[in-house]
Amino acid sequence: MGFSTDAIHGGQENFSKYRDVIPPIHLATTYDREDIETPGEFSYSRGQNPVRAAAEENIALLEKTRHALLFSSGVAAINAVYSLLNPGDHILISSQIYGGTYRILKYLNEKYGITHDYFNEADLSDAESKLRPQTRMFYIETPSNPLFNVYSLKAASDLAKKHNLISVSDNTFLTPYLQNPAEYGTDIIIHSSTKFINGHSDVIGGVVCVSDSSLSEKLKFLQRSTGAVPSPFDAWLILRSLKTLKVRMDYHTKSAAAIADALKSESFVKAVYYPGWKSAVENEIQNSQARGRGGVISFVADENVNLKEATAKLKIVKVAESLGGVETIMSQPYNMSHSVIPPSEKNALGITKNLLRLSVGLEDTEDIIADIVQAFR
Ligand SMILES: *Cc1c(COP(=O)(O)O)cnc(C)c1O
Repeated sequence: MGFSTDAIHGGQENFSKYRDVIPPIHLATTYDREDIETPGEFSYSRGQNPVRAAAEENIALLEKTRHALLFSSGVAAINAVYSLLNPGDHILISSQIYGGTYRILKYLNEKYGITHDYFNEADLSDAESKLRPQTRMFYIETPSNPLFNVYSLKAASDLAKKHNLISVSDNTFLTPYLQNPAEYGTDIIIHSSTKFINGHSDVIGGVVCVSDSSLSEKLKFLQRSTGAVPSPFDAWLILRSLKTLKVRMDYHTKSAAAIADALKSESFVKAVYYPGWKSAVENEIQNSQARGRGGVISFVADENVNLKEATAKLKIVKVAESLGGVETIMSQPYNMSHSVIPPSEKNALGITKNLLRLSVGLEDTEDIIADIVQAFR
């Protein structure tokens, strides 16, 4: 089946005796047993419930993995994946990652004796040089956020396999519609479903996708034991939103490309970042492993722009954290998504105060361009 057919129908067979065309929300926390000694298909809703099961089956189908597990947030999903490790274990992680991931690595993992090293994602030999006998996990984000460096999923998972590491990829920015890391050998795929997957800025959620049944059992144990699970209503909203993921991503992507093009020729813009634009090599990698560049761009505003004044003049574009919704959102990674990273590290990565990230929504493209131009020019 095609992507949208799966997204619209996957995991939702045999839902109700009333033959409703969308699944009902099951709010029950517990389920009446026919036999006291044997649980039925569902026994207690933290462990599993019908709507979450349907959403998990649906996402696994779209991400081309055997299993998917829903969490109450993206960081809960990331934390569950790190919880696969034991004290003494070591993680190799690409240098440009989501700020919340940085926070877990530095302030939680270290406390539990799990160490990490960052490697330069443009150069996998840098990762190899930082391998230790204790290294167990290889964690990447491509395209990276917020500067959209692109690197090869296949090369990364080959390296992980060679050294017997669990490969993990955060696929939030491209979604299962535009990129399936499992096709290139990635073991675990993480999403913040708060972003494009839910897509309407009204649910915080996370997903872990995995095919290996031993990893999946361990993650399921962590999901049930630590209880960071979505409510049935949140799971239902995610299932509802997946049905339009393809049409939304097609529009986000088309509009983002047009806005990136328009910004390039504006004098208040010093640089524009979009996955694959940095170099011919990155462009080739992007085209070979993804079916589009996605709906998020970044640009560097000229030093002469007064950012406080310019952003206050925006009429349509919202100035906010997050991304992936139907509304266009401008953010300043330096003070928002990446605020937890010390200034010297941010500047070294190129995450300066003048770097602005734009999550392109579903409004009319010309209106967004006009709004930014009237505010910044
Ligand atoms: C937002 C985000 C997360 C964290 O997700 P939450 O749902 O906010 O907990 C993780 N990774 C990436 C790439 C993100 O953009």
